Amino acid sequence: MKMTGSAYRNPWFRKLFNFTVHIITDPPFLRGIFISGMPGDRVFIFKFVVQIKKMNNCTVCGNTAGNRLHTVREMQLGTRELFRYMECACCGCMQLLDIPEGLGKYYPKQGYYSFNLGLDLRKKPDRLRKWKASYLIYGRNRIPGTLLSIGYKVPDYYTWMRATGVQYDDTILDVGTGNGSLLLNLFRIGFTNLHGIDPFISEDQDHGAVQIIKKSIYDLSGQFDLIMLHHAFEHMDEPLKVLQQSYSLLKKGKYLLIRTPVMGMYSWKKYGTNWMDLDAPRHIIIHSMASMQLLAERAGFEIRKTVFDGNYMSLIGSEQYTKGIALNDSNSYMVNKTASVFRKKDIQQFKVINVANNKLQQADQAAFYLFKP
Ligand SMILES: [Zn+2]
Repeated sequence: MKMTGSAYRNPWFRKLFNFTVHIITDPPFLRGIFISGMPGDRVFIFKFVVQIKKMNNCTVCGNTAGNRLHTVREMQLGTRELFRYMECACCGCMQLLDIPEGLGKYYPKQGYYSFNLGLDLRKKPDRLRKWKASYLIYGRNRIPGTLLSIGYKVPDYYTWMRATGVQYDDTILDVGTGNGSLLLNLFRIGFTNLHGIDPFISEDQDHGAVQIIKKSIYDLSGQFDLIMLHHAFEHMDEPLKVLQQSYSLLKKGKYLLIRTPVMGMYSWKKYGTNWMDLDAPRHIIIHSMASMQLLAERAGFEIRKTVFDGNYMSLIGSEQYTKGIALNDSNSYMVNKTASVFRKKDIQQFKVINVANNKLQQADQAAFYLFKP
């Protein structure tokens, strides 16, 4: 960029002080503001000490001031490549600055994209499971339900169904459905109108009550009683657009459920860039409580409830990343428990911390219930 000008109107001064301002951003070693001119017959070039830094706007709130840059390693596959992230000084979210082309190569090949439930999908829901579920979700079938529920650890998806008030025949959409296991579980406890979308699966699959479509949320039409994004939102680079599209696909008085990592909590404070849920470069925006609130409001939603549902495995992973052990390394706890650096008492300790974090609303993951009024 180049600007020319004169400091004085007087022709003599103009001759003396005619100058040109050069703002150079590239190459980096020349970055700065240069002033050149010819006072009399002598050429001068002066470089300002002030360095020009490339300003990055926060994708969510637009803030440019005071944002902090971080370098995060790829530690799931263990390539240990470095990626630049920016922590917004205003809304607190964390965002990947240079999204690599062909992000697909950073996703594990096995089991991530494939929907392979064909053989497992029964023609009818399991009757005993349905009795148990209808008791635990809706308080129906009290006697068989109570008997069947003795000693049963209630799965999280029961809680989601209960909290959103969704009924058995309601239309449910799972965005970023992956291997579709959640939809299968919902089918088995009695839900009949289940739709999953994922742009990365190989092809559409029609399983009657469970429909899996190779589509992105932007290509979808129709009206749903519940839309869910389970650990999908952080993979999306246009969060407001996703919320606006979800809003238009949702019936009035219904819920959009977003489960996602939360920035700025215990794990970020303790592990910093070794926090497992940053998951560079797959996670493009890791939202904070403030950025979720801001986006929800802009799209027209009310956040009616936030439930922290952090998992102790994320604490184990973050601890490993700090020690330089990637998730897929042979001595990773996720790969080989006995070869790992952790003993039973360490794992017990992580579980205790995790329970406390969830209770204190300091865990690194949460379920946000966005209500369309
Ligand atoms: Zn921001």
